[in-house]
Amino acid sequence: MKRFAIPKLALPMALLFALCACTAANSGSVPAQTDAPSSAADPATGEDTAQASSGEQEVPVGSLHMVWAGSDVPSAAGGQLYETASTYLYDPRCLTAVDLETGVQQMLCTKTGCTHDNPDCEAWICEAGLSLAQCGAFAEDGKLYRVYATDPHHGMGGALLSGVEVSSLDGSNSTLLCEDFVPNGSCIDITWLADDGYLYACIQSNPAVNEEGETRNQFTVERIPKTPGSTAELLYQWQSTRADNMAESLQAAGVSHGQLLVMLTEPPAEHTGSLAGDYAASTTTLRVLDLETRTLGEPLDCWTGDGGDLSLRQIYNGLLWTIDGEGTLTAADPITGDTVENCPGLWPEEMEPRGIFGLYGRRLVVDGYDRANDLEHRYVFDLDTGTMQRELPATWYKEANQPRLPSLMADDGEHLMLKVEERPVTRTTVGQDGVVMEYPSSDSVYAVIPAEDYLDGSEDWTTCTLLPTEEN
Ligand SMILES: [Zn+2]
Repeated sequence: MKRFAIPKLALPMALLFALCACTAANSGSVPAQTDAPSSAADPATGEDTAQASSGEQEVPVGSLHMVWAGSDVPSAAGGQLYETASTYLYDPRCLTAVDLETGVQQMLCTKTGCTHDNPDCEAWICEAGLSLAQCGAFAEDGKLYRVYATDPHHGMGGALLSGVEVSSLDGSNSTLLCEDFVPNGSCIDITWLADDGYLYACIQSNPAVNEEGETRNQFTVERIPKTPGSTAELLYQWQSTRADNMAESLQAAGVSHGQLLVMLTEPPAEHTGSLAGDYAASTTTLRVLDLETRTLGEPLDCWTGDGGDLSLRQIYNGLLWTIDGEGTLTAADPITGDTVENCPGLWPEEMEPRGIFGLYGRRLVVDGYDRANDLEHRYVFDLDTGTMQRELPATWYKEANQPRLPSLMADDGEHLMLKVEERPVTRTTVGQDGVVMEYPSSDSVYAVIPAEDYLDGSEDWTTCTLLPTEEN
């Protein structure tokens, strides 16, 4: 069983449309929101490391920043990646950390002789067998916040549970911060923000279809004080009203100038006849959700689902990045509208941009796809010179015939954790009749490497030493 979720492009968008049974969401032109791993706060300084290193978007310490974009990618900060262990060995769900320099995964429990299987364990988050929408942790302000939220509506039923606990970074001294902050019986995923005094849970949900057969999407912002014993406060709630099987959606897109950016996606007024057509004709607007006045601002930018003449549009590090049909890469400040980067003729012709891998200092890494030859590419651009510095090698093979790029599993701004190989193995299982059967499976191989080394083309990574997983 794979330990880490595969990071996908266009996560929230793809998820919402997938829930609406739309199959067109996984295209390169979908605006993706993948900025969390590299914009996680450094617990040692409280500064947003990626934004500080980018030299742009200097946000004052303590102002609103992203701490965890959501469940598809584990959060990483200060050289540690936080991930749950849900295995037979360590059931129920307990919290682990992978050291992004050594690649060693450890249970976040300092108790000697602990069996890591009961609520007294320092790594404990919640029981197994729950229909979890989110279970994990993030570092913020020198502390570790562990969170869980169930989704009885889409899972196997059960109770709607949610909670946040705060502890030391090593998992010890855990205290309940807040419980039951998820409203209305449903939770798809949660994006987490923070400032000096509060955590902000941006909750994506779609409660049961109502009596009129309408699909509904909900977006709720709950503000949770960092002081234990306080209660969550409902700051903002939005709900779609569109009928049919495609609904409007609102989702967190990032933070710029200490303000929450959201994307409102609306299907076309008239059904086009296909879900793919509806998706292409959908309109997305980028807005500020003002958490002081609790109001949704006017559109800052607007685009359609098919991307128009744009090959890529993505909010990353508080900027709106685009690659147009002429191969020009630009980045604009979404709030002021100022163009921050402008690199004409940078993007290779005939190559579909797939998404931004990361920004490290002045080096931007973007993934592309050669559809004609079914090949993946990863380019390192030097934003100062406006040139391509190098293409990074595709090193591992899927089903033994196709070179693959290492997948990004976590990024704290300085270190990367990559999936570098899928190793075929044969496993056995015992059938109901007691007969032992063999079946082909695979083990994912993960590795860590300093981001700068990887960008320089190095493949001298350190294979991760992970805790044992269940054998199926
Ligand atoms: Zn323990």
